[in-house]
Amino acid sequence: MSEKYDVIVIGAGPAGYVAAIRAAQLGLKAACVDAFAGKDGKQALGGTCLNVGCIPSKALLDSSRQFHNLTHNFGVHGITADNAKIDVPTFIGRKDKIVKQFTGGVAQLFKANKITPYFGTGKLLKGNSVEITGPDGTKQTISATNVILASGSVPIELPFAKFDNKMILDNAGALDLAEVPKRLGVIGAGVIGLELGSVWKRLGSDVTILEALPDFLSVADADVAKVAAREFAKQGLTIKLGAKLTKADIKKKEVHLTYEDKDGAHELVVDKLLVAVGRRAYTAGLLADDTGVKLDERGRIVVDEHNHTGVDGVWAIGDAVRGPMLAHKGSEEGVAVAEWIAGKAGHVNLDTVPWVIYTEPEIAWAGKTEKQLKDEGVPYKVGSFPFAAIGRAVAMNEAVGQVKMIAHAETDRILGVHMVGPGVSELIAECVVAMEFKGSSEDLARIVHAHPTLSEAVHEAALSVDKRAIHKGN
Ligand code: FAD
Ligand code: AMP
Repeated sequence: MSEKYDVIVIGAGPAGYVAAIRAAQLGLKAACVDAFAGKDGKQALGGTCLNVGCIPSKALLDSSRQFHNLTHNFGVHGITADNAKIDVPTFIGRKDKIVKQFTGGVAQLFKANKITPYFGTGKLLKGNSVEITGPDGTKQTISATNVILASGSVPIELPFAKFDNKMILDNAGALDLAEVPKRLGVIGAGVIGLELGSVWKRLGSDVTILEALPDFLSVADADVAKVAAREFAKQGLTIKLGAKLTKADIKKKEVHLTYEDKDGAHELVVDKLLVAVGRRAYTAGLLADDTGVKLDERGRIVVDEHNHTGVDGVWAIGDAVRGPMLAHKGSEEGVAVAEWIAGKAGHVNLDTVPWVIYTEPEIAWAGKTEKQLKDEGVPYKVGSFPFAAIGRAVAMNEAVGQVKMIAHAETDRILGVHMVGPGVSELIAECVVAMEFKGSSEDLARIVHAHPTLSEAVHEAALSVDKRAIHKGN
């Protein structure tokens, strides 16, 4: 007799482990199957996000930011330090410790919530059983009334630049270098390329980012992208747009790149190459042939607006399904699915999922860009406010960027907020709350914001929508 559960989750990333915890909170007997092994070969719960994504990248971004500030920005405060050095093993070791703390934390949460973890690869069988193949090849089958597929995503590999994680790196490799590469090539100026490119640039690498598209950061609002491009250039990050990598050959201890742009083919030689051209849903070995679960043209598991696959009792969440590939989006889907299974009213609003890029300056947005609204023919008005006029930002010596707010021209409902500047990863939360409550720019304009704080930029941008910002000309 196989062990029987109310809910089996396949995948313990931020989508899957959160789904398992919420299911357990609601009184459901839950199990979670995950194949990820840490550096010690033992099970490491938390998926991409905790092991090789959000958390380790932020640890390295924070350490490298401290080093960069010490070597470049502290002089203005009257602080100088001679011979500042970075010890890469300590830098990486701190990150590893943080990862271990958080993956271990998920194991503790599973214990506290009486969730059974299984270490191995899970395959959904017809009739909602899951076959688990352990790291030693042993197989066992468990079953449940409901199965939640949360298998996440993996980096896209270019056929002519295969990952070896020695010379040609994916995200995991770029988070684990033993020394600062003299020359680092990055393919793709997306979120991951910009964040990890920044980490090694701050430690002294000569970083060149090649981006196939002609526009920089085209997912973001154009005004935000413009400020970000200018600031990255000032930092010495070389970003070549309209530059498509076509070849990467490893020769001795170098990677020889060929890329094409409007002027023809060019060569570039680097010591390490990070390929960050996007991620794809991961479903290898996940589904037996006869489950009835469908994949779309991009290999994502097909789900309806309630994350249901159309097969009785089978749900899917996170990076493996449509929508932005972001940890918090997956987690909210996990909560909602557990609630739907328990007969409650789950809720996920994909229209207000905030995006954050943790570069310097940070970039954050929620809702529609000005271009999207133009294309959709929606009438809108715009307010903006620069951090240069925010006392706190100037006191911090980080007075770069702006907050831009877009509201409906007739109803004043906030349709999008786009930020680049200090602390905007936190500031965006206020705007998401306002948007979730269908708030107007006037609502935010009438709310008291503490002085002096960075949040005053949000307040002033809201006032500026109605051309009544106090600390700038309107
Ligand atoms: P995953 O986290 O990918 O987890 C899936 C898990 O399922 C993995 O452990 C995998 O081993 C396991 N699995 C897959 N198939 C099976 C199977 N058949 N059997 C058993 N186990 C299986 N997002 C943010 O929101 N903020 C950030 O700052 C951020 N930074 C990032 C930085 C980097 C470098 C990267 C690569 C990603 C970053 N992301 C960030 C994206 C974020 O990591 C993903 O959106 C998130 O991890 C998706 O969660 P998930 O649970 O859907 O999948
Ligand atoms: P993201 O999907 O945000 O991680 O960004 C990945 C980026 O990589 C996209 O902006 C793509 O345009 C870019 N890209 C994909 N293939 C190539 C290539 N061969 N050369 C350069 N850039 C690429």
